[in-house]
Amino acid sequence: MLCGAKLRGKESYCQKHGMLNGRCRLHGGLSPKNQDHWNYQGKGCTKAERQRSAETSASIKLLKQLVINLGMIES
Ligand SMILES: [Zn+2]
Repeated sequence: MLCGAKLRGKESYCQKHGMLNGRCRLHGGLSPKNQDHWNYQGKGCTKAERQRSAETSASIKLLKQLVINLGMIES
């Protein structure tokens, strides 16, 4: 779908492709989020994944501290 906004000072209309609401980026369109964004490269992670990795590293830290306290390895 084309944007179709009237260009200032010209008797023509915007020929850019519109976003979800029908207007292009310059004319009030919305930037798509996450996977729909044109710069999406499959990188990064979701909030849930970040939370899970934080919990995992916290438990690893705890286990390591436990092992050090038991004298099994040098700190
Ligand atoms: Zn436009």
